[in-house]
Amino acid sequence: MSAKNKANMCKPDNPARLTTNHTAGCISRKNVITAAIHFDSTWMPRVSPDPCASVADLKSQSEQARRLDEEIAGKIKSQGSGILKLVEDFNAEFGAVTPAQSASANLPRWRWSWFGDFDMTAMAMGAQAPTWDARNCCFWPSRQKALSWVKSVSDVNRISIPKWSEEPAFQQMLESRQRWYKAFPDNPPGSLGGASWNQPAGREPVKFLSYMSFIDMGPHLFGADEFMMILAGDAQLADALMEKFFELSTSYSEFMQALQGGKVGCIVGFGGDYACMLSPDLYQKYSVAWDQKLFDYFRKFYAAPQDAPCNLHSCGPSSHLYSHWGTHPLRSNITTMQTRLLSEHVKSLRLNLPETLLQLTFHPEHFDFANVGPDDVRAVLRQAVEDVNGSNAEFVVFAFANDPQDIERLETNLHVMYDEMDEINSCCMSGIDAAHI
Ligand SMILES: [Zn+2]
Repeated sequence: MSAKNKANMCKPDNPARLTTNHTAGCISRKNVITAAIHFDSTWMPRVSPDPCASVADLKSQSEQARRLDEEIAGKIKSQGSGILKLVEDFNAEFGAVTPAQSASANLPRWRWSWFGDFDMTAMAMGAQAPTWDARNCCFWPSRQKALSWVKSVSDVNRISIPKWSEEPAFQQMLESRQRWYKAFPDNPPGSLGGASWNQPAGREPVKFLSYMSFIDMGPHLFGADEFMMILAGDAQLADALMEKFFELSTSYSEFMQALQGGKVGCIVGFGGDYACMLSPDLYQKYSVAWDQKLFDYFRKFYAAPQDAPCNLHSCGPSSHLYSHWGTHPLRSNITTMQTRLLSEHVKSLRLNLPETLLQLTFHPEHFDFANVGPDDVRAVLRQAVEDVNGSNAEFVVFAFANDPQDIERLETNLHVMYDEMDEINSCCMSGIDAAHI
């Protein structure tokens, strides 16, 4: 950690500094760097209520889910572990302010969820409904690819834009929400979309509108292999699809936005889950170009200002794209970004996105909290904090225990992370800016 950053972040003798006994919430503070831990004991069975189920089944599934959750908590505690409380304290202490969740609500782990916008689109194109995965609390898309019949530009022209309000999947969603309301009045389904999105320090959270991106729609409608082959080898077809997907994406988002109302000020829809699979050239041609097209459209349609904030997403390993983010025509609009933390590349990421709030994920594939030592955690975290210049960053840790033996190491490492986060944020109490202490 450089002297400059340390001076900005930490004042060792600050009397208000928390000790490391993890007394979450005892002092309100303003974190300069936030963090969240998603802990999962994957070896234990668990279920979540199926949003497609009847009211009676929803209730009985939730009872079963609660019993299994209690059983899991009991087993972890019987090992002498306090990891569940540690994670709860950590998230309360270092989590971002929004999206906020009422501390008194005592809500269960599961929430109402529904087919994603890609699934809804695929179903409108003729695909089967996705399958509910109770164990992972998510839907698996149908393996049937709705647009596999599309082989030419003239085929693309035959794709019609759905009347979304009349789509069976949309009607089923409304019915699912009604059943959920009846089954769980204390845990209602919530808004259909458009929550607030965190922004870098100094900017208020903004309500966003989410759009399906071109590079994510293709894999859902064609399959990833086939779509990537089209991008790489059939520019005419790819260009025609880009036009058609743009119409599909914007019409769907406008329909959902009209349904929920309110003023939107932020675009979520740059990049995508599949961004990391594109070569730099294809990324520039099909992702950056899509971002620009979407931004121009959004500005016009919603009378948004020139500095409207945008979110960029590329959750896979994406260091080959950083220089394209640095030269992105809308770089100053990209106020938040989610990507995987690749420790040797954080410095380059910050250089390319100097003003952006970076949400960096510790993903087991690249950094597994269950398989590293405390010194590794400390070193990677300190380096990352230095490399992001000590602010405008959030760490997201996926901490998975794949068998009971993982718990002890995870707990040790999460304690280390707690202490490091405490140190980083220790001089920034209750709205006082570090620079003014
Ligand atoms: Zn993603």
